[in-house]
Amino acid sequence: MKNEEKKPTAAELPAGGIVEAGTAAQFKTGPWRSIKPVWSKEKCKACMICWIYCPDASIQVADGKVIGIDYDHCKGCGICSKECKFGAITMEAEKK
Ligand code: SF4
Ligand code: SF4
Repeated sequence: MKNEEKKPTAAELPAGGIVEAGTAAQFKTGPWRSIKPVWSKEKCKACMICWIYCPDASIQVADGKVIGIDYDHCKGCGICSKECKFGAITMEAEKK
């Protein structure tokens, strides 16, 4: 008969690793960028779509409105610029 080896129960399995939440904030990933988002206060309609889509929580917000970009953590993926329907975020080359 196959599979006669006793399999461990869930209680017998070793504990898995637990990664503390929020650790991404400890690492400044901004230097990874080759292009950066530039936000226009004048064009912004405060729809918050960019804030919803940003995978790095790098859209800075105060009082329910965008106030800028967190360049310490923004990786320059360009999603915010692509999703903004008002042309308020443009991507520009980083000056290195
Ligand atoms: S998506 Fe564009 S218009 Fe909407 S909050 Fe962001 S920058 Fe402003
Ligand atoms: S470029 Fe990417 S990481 Fe940077 S603010 Fe826009 S969506 Fe966020």
